Amino acid sequence: MRALVTGGAGFIGSHLIDRLISRGDEVVVLDNLSSGKIEFIQTHIDSGSVVLHEGDITNFDDVHGAMEGIDCVFHLAANPDIRLGTKITDTDLKQGTIATYNIVESMRRCEVKKIVFASSSVVYGENAPMPTPENHGPCMPISLYGASKQAGEGLISSWVGTFGLQAWIFRFANIIGHRGTHGVIFDFIHKLKADPSRLEVLGNGLQEKSYMEVGDCVDGILHVMENSNESLNLFNLGSHDTASVSRIAEIVIEETNCKDAKIEYTGGDRGWAGDIPRAMLGIDKMLSTGYDVRYNSEDAIRHTAKCLIEEIGL
Ligand code: NAD
Repeated sequence: MRALVTGGAGFIGSHLIDRLISRGDEVVVLDNLSSGKIEFIQTHIDSGSVVLHEGDITNFDDVHGAMEGIDCVFHLAANPDIRLGTKITDTDLKQGTIATYNIVESMRRCEVKKIVFASSSVVYGENAPMPTPENHGPCMPISLYGASKQAGEGLISSWVGTFGLQAWIFRFANIIGHRGTHGVIFDFIHKLKADPSRLEVLGNGLQEKSYMEVGDCVDGILHVMENSNESLNLFNLGSHDTASVSRIAEIVIEETNCKDAKIEYTGGDRGWAGDIPRAMLGIDKMLSTGYDVRYNSEDAIRHTAKCLIEEIGL
């Protein structure tokens, strides 16, 4: 299979590419290297198994230039920073909604039939039952990033209904692990590196979410694809439990050996406007395909802390 991975130089994209290459797929990457790093996929580029198109998904010609001869698109490129929407209000509109239009429209013109979309648990909004099943609705996201994911899902679903696309939409929990370049564990390690005597935690620390290790995530994507064949396949991908932000702070302090660090909470029930304080995805549908995760949330957090401490160099 010849796959196009948008955002392939990113955290999740580069792990997905490792799996695609190891099973013998050819891979084209479209990435503007804004948050991705070429070194994550350099060995595959050097070996000739990955072709990198350095371009922008907000530019239709860049998207179209990478689409020729593709069998399946893995659409992962997006602004990864949910908080950015509180300052620049058209980022997610352009990088999420418009960009996803560019992808599906280019697919239609090139007769590419299969798409995988990296959506998010944040589409459910904040008053969903926990764990949240895929058929929960109405979905009322409270962040601009969440709105763009929901819009992306809607565009893909409409291209399925109108132009015969086949789609796998995955609503991810918090994905963490080796090569992470953002998120709570990454932030905590950087803060402790700058000042080992204190750790500022956004919110009251009681925010509680589900964490999934990145290898579990990409294996889950490929397993579910092989074991589902509707025209529109919608799956939550997550782990069996949750962890609180204060527990993450404790684990990072243990792993960095900054034992004297004083945890300072900024207060309030959430980290920033648009943050969802408590989230846990229902994963029965994923489990019903015969796939299960290797890591629970806390093990994934500790594993990630160890990996990132080595990568960041503390
Ligand atoms: P990431 O920032 O590591 O990856 C995003 C990639 O897209 C990067 O390589 C970046 O350079 C590229 N990119 C960004 N804007 C681009 C543009 N305009 N044109 C071309 N390339 C562009 O983030 P990630 O954590 O690997 O996330 C991958 C996808 O999964 C994103 O769509 C994200 O919204 C989604 N997601 C991630 C998580 C998580 O916890 N990491 C959770 C839910 C959903």
